[in-house]
Amino acid sequence: MFSSHRSGIGKAVFVLLCLILTAAILTLSFLIYRTLSEPAEVTALRRLHVPEWVDVDLIRRDGASRRRTRLEALNAIVIHYIGNPGTSAQNNRNYFDNPDSTVSAHFIVGLEGEIIQCIPLHEKSSASNHRNRDTISIEVCHPDESGVFSPETYASLVRLTAWLCRECDLGADQIIRHYDITGKICPSWFVDDEAAWETFKQDVMTAKE
Ligand SMILES: [Zn+2]
Repeated sequence: MFSSHRSGIGKAVFVLLCLILTAAILTLSFLIYRTLSEPAEVTALRRLHVPEWVDVDLIRRDGASRRRTRLEALNAIVIHYIGNPGTSAQNNRNYFDNPDSTVSAHFIVGLEGEIIQCIPLHEKSSASNHRNRDTISIEVCHPDESGVFSPETYASLVRLTAWLCRECDLGADQIIRHYDITGKICPSWFVDDEAAWETFKQDVMTAKE
């Protein structure tokens, strides 16, 4: 009776050890697979630290706004506008973080030129439709319905986009609008005024140097 009790405990310990070993092998295999299958530019993004003028305030991983999936590549930066005049970067960051929200962006540039990072650079945001897979997204706040950015906001947007282009080796043709993906009027200023859009890209390339 005593020995069968002991052998029962022995079996339980053996099964437990097997389970732990299996879990360890699966975890290790996943980590090796993830490392080997990750594009080099995404690994670089995983290791890249944002400048001190960016406020890192990541939203929660809820499977919708922040989907816990990494980028498949990095081919462009997508510029958006918030479309909700007068709201701050913090307002919109908190909206993304709301459990009911299914949208997000990597960065929000605010009315005073402040910048908040909401999604890690190597993860997908929920901003740019089928191009979420291979782009970094920037949402921009604006004071009124015209959609035109304030000088402070514009300056920060140029600075941030130039930093990304420099770090990720992207050119002017890899800065795109949401409009270029789906035809949506976003960002409205840069869709309404093609010359302002071209000037913006030139300003980014000048700041990138
Ligand atoms: Zn947009």
